[in-house]
Amino acid sequence: MTDFHYSTDADGIATISWDIPNKSMNVLSMEGLAELEAHIDTALGDDAVKGVIITSGKSDFAGGMDLNVIAKMKEMAGDQPEKGLFDGIMSMHRTLRKIERAGMDPKTLKGGKPIVAALPGTALGIGLEIPLACHRIIAADNPKAKIGLPEIMVGIFPGAGGTTRLARKLGAMGAAPFLLEGKLSEPKKVKAAGIIDEVVPGDELLARAKEWVLGAKDADLVKPWDAKGYKMPGGAPYHPAGFMTFVGASAMINGKTQGVYPAAKALLSAVYEGALVPFDTALKIEARWFVNVLMNPSSSAMIRSLFINKEALEKGANRPKVEDEKVAKLGVLGAGMMGAGIAYVAANAGIEVVLIDAEQAAAEKGRGYAEGILDKGMKRGKVSEAKKAEVLGRITPTTDYAALSGCDLVIEAVFEDPRVKAEVTAKAEAAIPENAIFATNTSTLPISDLAKASARPEQFIGIHFFSPVDKMLLVEIIRGQQTGDRAVAKALDFVRQIRKTPIVVNDARFFYANRCIIPYINEGMRMVREGVAPALVENAAKLMGMPLGPLQLVDETSLDLGAKIAKATRAAMGDAYADGDVDEVVFWMVAQGRLGRKTQAGFYSYDEKGKRQGLWDGLAQQFPTAEDQPDLIEVQHRLMFAQALEAVRALEEGVLTDIREGDVGAILGWGFAPWSGGPFSWLDMLGAAYAVDTCDRLTARFGTRFEAPQLLRDAVGKEAGFYASRLSNAA
Ligand code: NAD
Repeated sequence: MTDFHYSTDADGIATISWDIPNKSMNVLSMEGLAELEAHIDTALGDDAVKGVIITSGKSDFAGGMDLNVIAKMKEMAGDQPEKGLFDGIMSMHRTLRKIERAGMDPKTLKGGKPIVAALPGTALGIGLEIPLACHRIIAADNPKAKIGLPEIMVGIFPGAGGTTRLARKLGAMGAAPFLLEGKLSEPKKVKAAGIIDEVVPGDELLARAKEWVLGAKDADLVKPWDAKGYKMPGGAPYHPAGFMTFVGASAMINGKTQGVYPAAKALLSAVYEGALVPFDTALKIEARWFVNVLMNPSSSAMIRSLFINKEALEKGANRPKVEDEKVAKLGVLGAGMMGAGIAYVAANAGIEVVLIDAEQAAAEKGRGYAEGILDKGMKRGKVSEAKKAEVLGRITPTTDYAALSGCDLVIEAVFEDPRVKAEVTAKAEAAIPENAIFATNTSTLPISDLAKASARPEQFIGIHFFSPVDKMLLVEIIRGQQTGDRAVAKALDFVRQIRKTPIVVNDARFFYANRCIIPYINEGMRMVREGVAPALVENAAKLMGMPLGPLQLVDETSLDLGAKIAKATRAAMGDAYADGDVDEVVFWMVAQGRLGRKTQAGFYSYDEKGKRQGLWDGLAQQFPTAEDQPDLIEVQHRLMFAQALEAVRALEEGVLTDIREGDVGAILGWGFAPWSGGPFSWLDMLGAAYAVDTCDRLTARFGTRFEAPQLLRDAVGKEAGFYASRLSNAA
């Protein structure tokens, strides 16, 4: 396989063009790296070559490192994985350093050959780290291109010199958004930030690159950090200004990550320690911290869930093998909060939408919601006037069901009332083509029951969005008892069109995400009732990496919704209902009129503008804080096992059929501690024996809800771990 092509022209320019066969995007493998190095050697060793252009044969430069390779590198390194990783990373540094020095005399810094990176489009991760080692970076003026270092988003950091080079190029402050937040921008903005040197029209890219190479002088090839007297922009750590930066950055990172994301901390250490030593030593330090991160189970779990498995699900890992079911015209019934959001995301993805409500004004209001989102986008410069008109033009608000004719998918998001849902199902089915698929966005009603109102239950399915629809990345697809494969394929193809991540689950109370999040919220409220300090509950959750504590989460979703769900669940479960103690808290709060954020009063206090203040101190009047408080770990275990055990039960009962969906769905659906890779990965990190032991202790103290499911008990003593053994079932 040839990933890089080498050619030379009559003017002595060697072009190394990255173009992996049969792939739409270049990604770097170890073999690819060896090829690149060999071509660089050839160019540097050939007297006829004056300089080199590194570019791509595709419309983009590169999507990054093949993260599967990192996972494999670690596996293949035998008993000394850290050594294997370190050697592999240092070989990357050597290749990139060779590009950077380009054959120049190390003392006089003269005699090197100019090497320019010419980027036609997107350049991510190693796709930017290679250019950063070149002497100049020229990008095509392509506003669709994204340039940046997104590694931090999957639990690692730029470990092929990108961290050290960017920090030295921009200073710690300037580099922070790109390194610590994985900020990606279009070429002009990246140039303004000082990361790349030039932006030129796409058809002039190679000519300009060549022109630069031919005109380059010795001094143009010397990186600031290789020149005498280099000083880090903004000050190195021992400089007063640098000192301020690093102290602030350290506090900021700990505040943002609560100390649970190893990559952010390691990255900062690599930058800080690297800034105190010469460049080549700094690369070694970066490599050691990178190995440290790669050896942390959090990074492999994050890579697995947030990159490899998320992508596999988006590409249709669980899609039935039927023909393309892309949606051309969508009907949305109910133009309330959810319906309006669904209409917007569909229209934004280029789909025609008929948006129906009982009153024309309500339907128009739904379209107005889409307009509001587009207006916000325009204010931020992300949406043009033309784009806004185009998207809104795709949404037809009406009360007339006849307008649904020709829709190949309908999603209902009317009131959560089976009678209303049955009525709109029948009305819509009378208007849509025989082969159209009908979906419900219900969050609590069983799909198989709602399907009884349908004349075509095999074409009836659940497509469950999360609120707010335009922001939440997960969509739960629910198979009812009679749902057929074509309906599943339609739902998956639709989710792919709107660029969200799907999971496919079977029909059971609360499906998957809500089933797991409710016990988390309930455990928090139970503790309040027991007298555990609310601040301890909230902080324990955050220190485990949960984005919101359980009490804040109830405030966001509202206590009256909690009361409504509690009543319905009690009615459905009868004597088996076990959350009476939680209801005491919920109903008391509702009686006080403290329904959460929407009434500007809940477990938290809010100011007149609705801004959240501290925890409400009135809570202690009804539920006094106990003198003796539990230790942090116990509170964390209660909150985390409440969710994770429910996830295991969902798998055991066949609601989840693929463990990957359980992990990805948990992170994207309700923010389950992303550093852990999801509840199943988290259990594996604890080890089944420790997890079961903890469950036994929690059960003895707090009740049977913590009983370890058999599936978890069965994993004790198995070498492959809980996850790996289940994954083979999914593959
Ligand atoms: P909502 O009250 O904001 O909107 C419901 C809309 O349906 C209203 O505009 C109403 O006028 C319209 N409607 C009612 N009867 C109708 C009929 N016969 N014909 C046409 N339109 C009718 O409710 P929502 O929060 O958007 O929820 C809608 C559905 O989505 C519910 O099934 C709910 O369980 C589900 N859901 C809600 C959330 C959430 O966070 N709110 C999340 C996931 C799913």
